[in-house]
Amino acid sequence: MGKPTGFQEFPRQAAPYRPAEVRMLDYEEIFTPRDEARLTTQGARCMDCGVPFCQSEPHGCPVYNLIPEWNDLVYQGRWRDALDRLLKTNNFPEFTGRVCPAPCEGACVLGITDPAVTIKNIEHAIIERGFEEGWMTPKIPSRRTGKRVAVVGSGPAGLAAAAQLNSVGHQVVVYERADRVGGLLTYGIPNMKLGKDVVQRRVDLMTAEGIEFITGVTVGNGEQGSTDAQELLDAFDAVLLTTGATRPRDLPIEGRELEGVHFAMDFLTANTKSLLDSKHDDGAYISAKDKHVIVIGGGDTGTDCIGTSLRHGCASLVNFEIMPQPPEGRADGNPWPEWPRIFRVDYGHEEAAKRFGEDPRVYAISGKRFIDNGNGHVSALETIEVQWVNGRPEEIPGTEKIWPADLVLLSMGFLGPEAQVGETLGVEFDARSNFAADYGQYRTAHEKVFAAGDCRRGQSLVVRAINEGRESAREIDRFLMGETTLP
Ligand SMILES: Cc1cc2nc3c(=O)[nH]c(=O)nc-3n(C[C@H](O)[C@H](O)[C@H](O)COP(=O)(O)OP(=O)(O)OC[C@H]3O[C@@H](n4cnc5c(N)ncnc54)[C@H](O)[C@@H]3O)c2cc1C
Ligand code: SF4
Repeated sequence: MGKPTGFQEFPRQAAPYRPAEVRMLDYEEIFTPRDEARLTTQGARCMDCGVPFCQSEPHGCPVYNLIPEWNDLVYQGRWRDALDRLLKTNNFPEFTGRVCPAPCEGACVLGITDPAVTIKNIEHAIIERGFEEGWMTPKIPSRRTGKRVAVVGSGPAGLAAAAQLNSVGHQVVVYERADRVGGLLTYGIPNMKLGKDVVQRRVDLMTAEGIEFITGVTVGNGEQGSTDAQELLDAFDAVLLTTGATRPRDLPIEGRELEGVHFAMDFLTANTKSLLDSKHDDGAYISAKDKHVIVIGGGDTGTDCIGTSLRHGCASLVNFEIMPQPPEGRADGNPWPEWPRIFRVDYGHEEAAKRFGEDPRVYAISGKRFIDNGNGHVSALETIEVQWVNGRPEEIPGTEKIWPADLVLLSMGFLGPEAQVGETLGVEFDARSNFAADYGQYRTAHEKVFAAGDCRRGQSLVVRAINEGRESAREIDRFLMGETTLP
């Protein structure tokens, strides 16, 4: 522990984002440059707890980051050592340091009495310093086992598994149906939260380490240009499915078929692809410019729709959430070290408030019908307020309201993986229609086929996908070699 009285001396100072009115004019990352003096002081706030709740499940870090160790090393200015500690547990701190909601901070012991240690900022700083210093070089395995593993899907779960499997000498080929590697890191989370140069920088490193990436190929859907799943089984010693939870939840109310009503992912994916392909010159995206936008559903996806619509130059923006507004502080039933279910202002909410003068969120409200403009295009949405009774929403008669809408984005969660590749490979499904494979084992009903990440557990977090990727690699290595040294 660097400074025993640090937590008493220094207040929490999180790294600020760029000013909302400036950043919403571009697609650059929202973060400000690293301030090492501040980070050193923030590292000094860590109490090096006897039981560091920050660093392990069930409430802290899902990849078991050695948080008190690297907090202390940063306080001492030993950045290289901090990087080595960080990379022991997390393959991709540059992703989690940017996008993780940081359950570690929710579980930080200091959070019982004071604001938590700025763990996420410190993680972000360590890995970026590592890249800048040239410490992040390809780690090429010293021997090859001769075993071949196919990874289907290149999101954080697939990438983490590939990195781990390659590190012990297996030959890994990652198949991705999109034209770029990264899963939702690339075509989900927008540029302002995670620059795609950051994703590509990691992919380049992994390529140099010997991992092969094949993009633009769908595995197992039988269409032209797809790879036959059975052929993969024959050509590889093991197959890992990390295909994500890509089926969106719909809102089947009157008028759903109208033009202008889209799933959030259709909006976000096309936006990023067009931005990367042509800086939007090709026009191959759904534009919110000058439109009245309604985002239905919250969470990260809803926030990203808000941030993207603002950058397009929308005319107005509201965000509906069927749940009631969370409290400002922890409720009685939500004690430390649980994840605090409290009212938060994310980057998109702050930006919307800056542009339109108020937070865009409206709580305890439900969509009843989309209204036609007479030409098959949505012109408005009728809503009704709800109250929650015994865990169920009940409509409040007389609270109907009409909201103008030219563009409606449905961001209501996901229903699990697309079934086809799993069905073709003889995988079974659990009650929530995810690929059935036990946590910690990751083996599906087919002995050579494993599953990890959102396709196994349902839509979750990048850090949990990394954890499952790492652990599934360990189980595949055990299956291939009879034993394993992977964590
Ligand atoms: C808009 C949005 C914002 C988010 N923001 C955050 C955030 O800020 N912080 C956070 O922690 N989490 C966030 N999440 C959640 C997080 O992105 C996911 O939990 C995580 O990416 C899951 O990783 P994965 O590897 O399991 O799957 P994915 O990232 O979904 O990757 C699966 C990949 O498999 C590919 N694929 C699917 N089927 C096939 C096939 N048959 N053949 C070949 N390829 C296939 C897909 O194209 C995709 O690239 C967000 C999610 C969304 C949708
Ligand atoms: S719980 Fe908080 S104070 Fe304790 S070791 Fe972890 S980061 Fe430091």
